[in-house]
Amino acid sequence: MVDRHFRSPDKRFGVQISEAELAKVVKQCFKAGRKETGGILVGRYTAAHDCAVVTSASDAPQDSHAGGTWFSRGVAGLQRWLNGLWKSETFYLGEWHFHPFALASPSVDDLAEMRSISTTESYHCPEPLLMIVGGDPKKDWHIKVFVFLAYEGLRELPEVKAGGSAPNDA
Ligand SMILES: [Zn+2]
Repeated sequence: MVDRHFRSPDKRFGVQISEAELAKVVKQCFKAGRKETGGILVGRYTAAHDCAVVTSASDAPQDSHAGGTWFSRGVAGLQRWLNGLWKSETFYLGEWHFHPFALASPSVDDLAEMRSISTTESYHCPEPLLMIVGGDPKKDWHIKVFVFLAYEGLRELPEVKAGGSAPNDA
């Protein structure tokens, strides 16, 4: 399975997601058409705690609401799913969503949502991830991955090409 890697230049924060899981996400974006969609990311951390391995990205819960430039993720079914994942030692890691035919850059609302999640006790996730898919899911999409840090907001984790290092690495 081919994985895609994202990492902060200082290597403190990394994210890994398989092409296969990403393909499922992009398919959801395609189905959403001109509206935003999204879901949650679940997975685990490596032993060194410097990389989050995303093992699954949910579809949009049925009670989600969306427009062309906004998305309100619902909660239906998520808690039950997360409870089941506990056994396989995978947990809530963060959120993903789709900016149809637009850049995968976080909005003010995205920042506020991530800040809220980071401080909501029930998520148990003080540094949640945000993965945004932008563009045309049929042929010309791109993704950006961020980690929310209380002291600086959303920090982008640039993609690291297989076998290479991040462009900012010295
Ligand atoms: Zn957004």
